[in-house]
Amino acid sequence: MRDAPARVLLVGAGVTSSIVARLLHGAAPQLEVHVWEKARGVGGRMSVARSDATGGRADMGAQYVTEVDGVAGAHRALYAELERAGVLLPMRASISGTRGADGGGQNWVAPAGLNAVAKALLRASGARVSLGRGVAAVERVVVARADGATAAKWRVSRVPRAARAPPAADADAADDAEDDIFDAVVLTMPVPQVLELGGAVADGLRERPDLLDRLRAVEYSARYALALFWAREDDAARSFVDRLPWDCRYVPKEEESAIVFVSRCAHKRRAATNDGGDANARDTAVEPPSFVVHSSVPFALAKLRDGADTAVVGTELLERVRALLPGLPPPADSRTQLWRFSQVRVPIHAERAAHALSADGEPPLLIAGDAFSAHGSRFDGCYESARDAAEQLLAQLGLDAARPGAPPSAL
Ligand SMILES: Cc1cc2nc3c(=O)[nH]c(=O)nc-3n(C[C@H](O)[C@H](O)[C@H](O)COP(=O)(O)OP(=O)(O)OC[C@H]3O[C@@H](n4cnc5c(N)ncnc54)[C@H](O)[C@@H]3O)c2cc1C
Repeated sequence: MRDAPARVLLVGAGVTSSIVARLLHGAAPQLEVHVWEKARGVGGRMSVARSDATGGRADMGAQYVTEVDGVAGAHRALYAELERAGVLLPMRASISGTRGADGGGQNWVAPAGLNAVAKALLRASGARVSLGRGVAAVERVVVARADGATAAKWRVSRVPRAARAPPAADADAADDAEDDIFDAVVLTMPVPQVLELGGAVADGLRERPDLLDRLRAVEYSARYALALFWAREDDAARSFVDRLPWDCRYVPKEEESAIVFVSRCAHKRRAATNDGGDANARDTAVEPPSFVVHSSVPFALAKLRDGADTAVVGTELLERVRALLPGLPPPADSRTQLWRFSQVRVPIHAERAAHALSADGEPPLLIAGDAFSAHGSRFDGCYESARDAAEQLLAQLGLDAARPGAPPSAL
């Protein structure tokens, strides 16, 4: 019998990790679940940029969630729960052009921005989330238990202080702690970032050359995202953005080789709520106009090869989008983000949607994420991998009687 609840660390606070947290809470609420995220906010590739200058928001990564056609069971139940909580709503926004990868399932948007999905799931899971806490290495340690026996565990160390962003002014003392010890660890960052980790991850993969080869073969696209924000009282900007005949547009490469996607982001999200059904109701008292531009992959790769400065790339993308949309007024504020690992192009081919790096009898050390599901970089891909990770983790902790099922409490 355990002398204390098992402590589980989920590395990364994206959608995969937040679903694992939620499923673990449903199946084994006695677990003490922690989440360490290197960024200053949750959501990962479903992050939201905010403009202090205008009060605007913009989805920087994923724009909307497309349900895999015909998805059933617990996947469906989670969509229904997120809809009931108002976190995801059926997308009413118009899309001009097509994206082959979307498929024919229902599209969903998050009125508050897509990071609301991870926020809601993490809140409901009761997980203890630490932001600005990047993991550098995971090491196997043997510790004495209260009953005098010993147990193998994972010591997880943080990115060295010199390599970190300065702590937030309101960071608590615990935030400054360096290492901690856990009974189980699940890594959910993009695969190339898993391969950068030292200690037991590197050792475990040396023992599994077949898995290492397959992980090295995983490929992601790279893109830049540019968010543009206008002031609420900028009538010229508002009337220009209101008059566009689409909410989202996929741009053919013959028209502009550097830009694949543009969206009037506040409109896209507002169209899903009751107050945004028609143009007259789009009184921007709710949220000032915002725009999102995604670059093409060849453009991003060329800039990466040249070692281009991200801010300079943002300026170029702004010039290009203003040429694409003549008359687009200059924004009051903007953000540029490089997604070095954007969407999975080549997933890992395997029978499982999450992988154990630890040997039999060792404490669980698992890797999960959108690279491990045939559904790829979609919510359903993250769900499938998260579910497999939660099931394997529970089984390895000897809690396999409990199966992750429908979430226990409302979001
Ligand atoms: C530009 C773009 C457009 C997209 N469009 C869509 C779309 O329209 N629809 C759709 O469904 N999907 C889309 N996606 C894909 C979708 O966003 C991803 O599939 C999904 O968000 C992946 O979630 P995840 O939790 O597996 O990984 P992530 O979101 O990448 O989460 C991993 C987290 O780990 C953190 N991390 C990394 N290293 C460490 C470390 N050492 N220590 C601690 N934390 C660490 C990261 O900061 C990150 O928060 C898009 C993605 C991008 C970038």
